[in-house]
Amino acid sequence: MLELQTFDHDVLVIGAGGAGLRAAIEAAARGVSVGLVCKSLLGKAHTVMAEGGVAAALGNVDDRDNWRVHFTDTLRGGQYVNNWRMAELHARESPERVRELEAWGALFDRTEDGRILQRNFGGHRYPRLAHVGDRTGLEMIRTLQDHGIHQGIDVHMEVTVVTLFSREGRIAGALAYDRERGRLRLFRARAVVIATGGVGRAFKITSNSWEYTGDGQSLALQAGAVLQDMEFVQFHPTGMVWPPSVRGILVTEGVRGEGGVLKNSEGRRFMFEDIPENYRAQTADTPEEGWRYVTGDKDARRPPELLTRDHVARCIVREVREGRGSPHGGVFLDIAWIKEKIPRAAEHIRKKLPSMYHQFKQLAGIDITTTPMEVGPTTHYIMGGIRVDGDSQMSTLPGLFAAGEAAAGLHGANRLGGNSLSDLLVFGKRAGEFAAEFARGHPALPPDGGEVNEAARDALAPFDRSNGESPYAVQHDLQDLMQTQAGIVRTESDLLQALEGLVQLRRRAAAVGVTGNREFNPGWHTALDLRHLLTVSEAIVTAALARKESRGGHFREDFPEKRTEFGGFNFVLRPGADGGMELDREPIPPLREDLKQLVEEFK
Ligand SMILES: Cc1cc2nc3c(=O)[nH]c(=O)nc-3n(C[C@H](O)[C@H](O)[C@H](O)COP(=O)(O)OP(=O)(O)OC[C@H]3O[C@@H](n4cnc5c(N)ncnc54)[C@H](O)[C@@H]3O)c2cc1C
Repeated sequence: MLELQTFDHDVLVIGAGGAGLRAAIEAAARGVSVGLVCKSLLGKAHTVMAEGGVAAALGNVDDRDNWRVHFTDTLRGGQYVNNWRMAELHARESPERVRELEAWGALFDRTEDGRILQRNFGGHRYPRLAHVGDRTGLEMIRTLQDHGIHQGIDVHMEVTVVTLFSREGRIAGALAYDRERGRLRLFRARAVVIATGGVGRAFKITSNSWEYTGDGQSLALQAGAVLQDMEFVQFHPTGMVWPPSVRGILVTEGVRGEGGVLKNSEGRRFMFEDIPENYRAQTADTPEEGWRYVTGDKDARRPPELLTRDHVARCIVREVREGRGSPHGGVFLDIAWIKEKIPRAAEHIRKKLPSMYHQFKQLAGIDITTTPMEVGPTTHYIMGGIRVDGDSQMSTLPGLFAAGEAAAGLHGANRLGGNSLSDLLVFGKRAGEFAAEFARGHPALPPDGGEVNEAARDALAPFDRSNGESPYAVQHDLQDLMQTQAGIVRTESDLLQALEGLVQLRRRAAAVGVTGNREFNPGWHTALDLRHLLTVSEAIVTAALARKESRGGHFREDFPEKRTEFGGFNFVLRPGADGGMELDREPIPPLREDLKQLVEEFK
């Protein structure tokens, strides 16, 4: 038996971003013991990086807004393959969750009469994003941490889960290592919540940080749960493209929400040239109308720069491919132009977009108050993830819950900006609530000792192969392959090559070796992350091959149109008999009658 430290919790929450923290707070408030595990220091989750805001139909800036409009915007944005029950709960409950956050101490920007200020964002019909300048995620994490710290949650920082255990058909616990000493830890838990965020590090150009290697999605599949919609990856239209060392870092949609416009090398606002039919009635006809919209004229319609992310990203790719790109392979995003419209524009930009101002100044030597930015698409978010029940967030494996970016359903084929932070609050709370209820109703069930030993030996195996290939080389090649063959524009032949490439990479990954000891050994950590990266990559490619149409974030050059027959189901991936995965279809239940009427009403 290998030496293990053992911890017992009623509910184990894996991940301390917005979803994990909110789940932990809720579970603890319901009187069960809670352990919260995170890969890095508490507070360093992805959520802290969120810039533009949290979407909630508070109606503070435009009183025509309400949950019904938010619901229909979310379905339209997701191209109707969303889990509509989640979209309904999200739209109904996010205002309450945002007000609750305010009551816990979050200091949002204010309207002149002292209410929470809301800004415009792509795909949202009315100004809906509550924000704190362009540092909303920081305020959210700070508030949740401050609140959570008083709830008696046991926090395990710099601890990475590597295996989940199930027993008698339900979740039983997890194996992890701590980064500092490399010691293994066994967590025994009656319920587990996965809140591990996204998969961006499977691609070369990404806004995601080093932690987002798809651990939760891969762990869930390996434990017996089901994944859904993995082909739907969001390529955010505006990442930095220059200098190369910062390529992919996000440029918030808030820039466009504040009036920023996209131009090609010929100086044309190309977004006016390609407006999808289902958004035509909601989109400005002229730049003048677009400007009136961003400055609050309720009679104006939004500028085409604020169309959904999937569409804007593809328009940028087209401009670059057709030779109208910027010098470093992007297009121009110009906020400086607003000086033609408002006095003291530079001051206004610095106040509204302080992080963007500093980001460009420090990383690219560009002053965005005078000079356009160069931007291009960057892998940002995955709409797919662990399939969950819309109300409880329980996965298909009893006792295993998922919330936030790791879960699937709410966003369908494309997420609207701002809908992630509200997703974390609404479904983090729900996951915590139902996980606590599950834990109360089920006795502890320790993981099987033999399985734990095997998983522990497996986690340490890279040390037995000190002459093996470097895990970094395999990770590098994987990111290259996903970027070029399963990225923003996909074809059958590229995807087939990608699948083949993944088989080779899996072989190489099984033979990687690490040297040194277990203390702070990033090579070892990368060797373990690789398994997850390979699993989520295979899931993305397998589902992308099967979806022979273009919808939301998934664009097939060989099937450029949306096809009705693909709108009635989700692709799901189940654990296969040989340790692999099997693709299947799950029909989307028909929309409830009252919700169907809403969709018609707000068409
Ligand atoms: C730059 C940027 C700006 C964004 N801006 C916005 C915005 O303005 N509005 C919006 O709605 N969305 C925005 N998003 C998206 C949004 O921030 C994320 O989707 C969201 O924060 C994800 O939250 P989460 O709680 O699901 O996971 P995260 O915040 O990603 O947290 C994941 C947690 O899981 C932990 N973890 C991962 N794997 C393991 C493991 N194996 N073991 C233990 N712990 C693990 C991590 O350490 C971390 O604590 C932005 C994203 C980025 C990158």
